[in-house]
Amino acid sequence: MKTEGLAETLSRVHGESKAAAARGRVATYIPALAKADPGAFGLALVDSTGSVFEAGDARARFTIQSISKVLALAYVMTELGEVAVFSRVGKEPTGDPFNSIIRLETSASRKPFNPLINAGAIVVSGLMPGSSPADKGERFRAFVGRLLGRGGVERDEAVYASEKATAARNRSIAWFLKELGILEGEVEDTLDVYFRQCAVSVDAVDLARVGAVLCMDGMDPVRRERVIAARTARVCKSLMVTCGMYDGSGEFAVDVGVPAKSGVGGGILASVRDRMGIGVYGPALDERGNSAAGLEALRRLSDELDLRVL
Ligand code: GLU
Repeated sequence: MKTEGLAETLSRVHGESKAAAARGRVATYIPALAKADPGAFGLALVDSTGSVFEAGDARARFTIQSISKVLALAYVMTELGEVAVFSRVGKEPTGDPFNSIIRLETSASRKPFNPLINAGAIVVSGLMPGSSPADKGERFRAFVGRLLGRGGVERDEAVYASEKATAARNRSIAWFLKELGILEGEVEDTLDVYFRQCAVSVDAVDLARVGAVLCMDGMDPVRRERVIAARTARVCKSLMVTCGMYDGSGEFAVDVGVPAKSGVGGGILASVRDRMGIGVYGPALDERGNSAAGLEALRRLSDELDLRVL
């Protein structure tokens, strides 16, 4: 594949997909997210040689939100091992909305189905090492910095404070987990760690870079060094396939066919085995919480570049 061809394809697909943003709406349940520009749209791609391609608002910053669940999983697996995580959280999809609480009470195992729904992610946040929520948040950000190949990864303080002030649903989930006996530490402290990780500020290029690391099974193609274990990368990608795109994961697997994770900040992280990472920013979301323009772009890129791995 010629480098020039890839840049042109990305730019054309960006132009062709932009209008799809009109089909979506920005998230408002975290009040600070409502300030996002619904027309913003950026695409980035990092290939297996470490070359970076960008189109549109690929350097616009936004909060990582649920995409942090993949990074938190990789982090806690790295620090504590796979058993520590999966003795408390399952590996199965739910088909329910990301913030659903219902199966915690009705399922026989009484543990969250997977680490990419809120219940599972809050359990993972509770496992992060550190002496306080702030310390845990700092250590997590340092890990994200290593994955992104840059220091100084920031947190959006306004979004963090806004979520912390309004998270009645996540508080309900966390208290339920506490009652089940699978949440480490104080409920409010664990939630604080979770809100900190969700408010990490990234751009589409950052997400493409993480996607590229995952596509190379944990090797950073830019710096040519291993940043996470191959097994960790594989676990993350498998869960992204089955659970990464909320209750649209099945349709996304059919239409696009690559591991991906989206967030209500408008980001999508996608990873194409041995070939590339793709990062998307488009805060106008469809009814399931996935970037409307981002989905359109990923469908088109998948067709044009023959990206399907499923
Ligand atoms: N911080 C958000 C929440 O827990 C993340 C949701 C998402 O991106 O899916 O509600």
